[in-house]
Amino acid sequence: MSTGTVWSDDHFIAGDVALDFANTVYRRTPELGADLLDSPESLFSWLRWAALLPAGDGPALDDDPESVLDEGRTMRQHMWAVFSSLESGSDVPTSALAGLLGVAYCGVRDAVTVGADGSIAPHMVRGALSVLALRSLRLVLSPGSRPLRSCGRCGWFFVDSSRGRRRRWCSMKTCGNQAKAARYRSTHS
Ligand SMILES: [Zn+2]
Repeated sequence: MSTGTVWSDDHFIAGDVALDFANTVYRRTPELGADLLDSPESLFSWLRWAALLPAGDGPALDDDPESVLDEGRTMRQHMWAVFSSLESGSDVPTSALAGLLGVAYCGVRDAVTVGADGSIAPHMVRGALSVLALRSLRLVLSPGSRPLRSCGRCGWFFVDSSRGRRRRWCSMKTCGNQAKAARYRSTHS
């Protein structure tokens, strides 16, 4: 059985876990790049890495791992639509927002415990997905002072908390350096 994508801190650069989940593909346009959520195992290990699922937890016995993966990927598409609109300053597509509300609703109904302090403890995978949906809704409904941007090369979203708000790349280690190298090549050829 595949063990799926090996995650590292480099996959969690966005400053918000909902954006990190949206960033599990390398590119969204003009066509979809490599999908890091390539198997149910990749989804479960991502959720463990994000501390949304305890070690060893997989889907509930009555869950079909492939259908949970489908739900995660569908939710991710809603996130792309919503986050893209936040980035561009256009109206948030309400169908995508409704999709996120649907995921949040199902998880809150069946698979989370909400503490009096506002903390949400997810049970199993559906609960974890609902936490991500709620985090996405929070980005929409309580926009902060820090702008949401996407990387000019790979399209990954991030919250720009840099001084001067001029961050252009998901990471200097990857896209930033590649852009620098490309610029160097174009001026030295
Ligand atoms: Zn990038």
